[in-house]
Amino acid sequence: MKPKMLVLMGGQGVGKGTFSQMLKELHDYVHIEIGGILRSLPKDSEISRIMAKGELVPDEKILEIIKSNIPDKSDKDVILDGFPRTMQQARWLVENYAKIFDIHVIYLDVPEEVMVARIQKRIREGGGRQDDANEQTIKNRLTNFWETTVPVIKWLSTVKEIKFSDIDVTSEVNENFKRIRNALEI
Ligand code: AMP
Repeated sequence: MKPKMLVLMGGQGVGKGTFSQMLKELHDYVHIEIGGILRSLPKDSEISRIMAKGELVPDEKILEIIKSNIPDKSDKDVILDGFPRTMQQARWLVENYAKIFDIHVIYLDVPEEVMVARIQKRIREGGGRQDDANEQTIKNRLTNFWETTVPVIKWLSTVKEIKFSDIDVTSEVNENFKRIRNALEI
């Protein structure tokens, strides 16, 4: 049996990080959180400047980071959190990894109002990140999601080699997690 690759996709504040942590309590996944990896890079780098504006980091750099973090020749199950976000990233993932892993894309689906409310809550509770600080930055990230990543999610839902689940996560966290577990059959 091939190892599993869970691909958590969705806009700002849908809970990719929270659900990744909850999944890790159930099973020993290798969790690859691209946003966190990028945030750990030097603050004066070009990448940090791109992130502070809420723009997408170039595909080439992202693919290099993802490639070096996916375990080579291992039977470990993996969670990808925040990747892919562009069509080039998604095609690369399917071309290179669909034969090695059982890929299951989980689209954490919420309307834009819910995303905005959750980002505002994150700011109020003081967990705000550098890229939550500015209204224009938040707008750019939401625009990138709807204009660039939603078409990618739609395309992934049509790819035969992978499993795809569209999950409504507008309820409270435990109920949402139950729906994810149901979709994953765990
Ligand atoms: P996140 O923590 O997932 O919201 O990501 C924070 C920021 O990192 C994004 O606003 C982008 O600037 C950058 N980033 C994260 N993942 C990607 C990706 N797959 N492609 C391009 N840029 C990304």
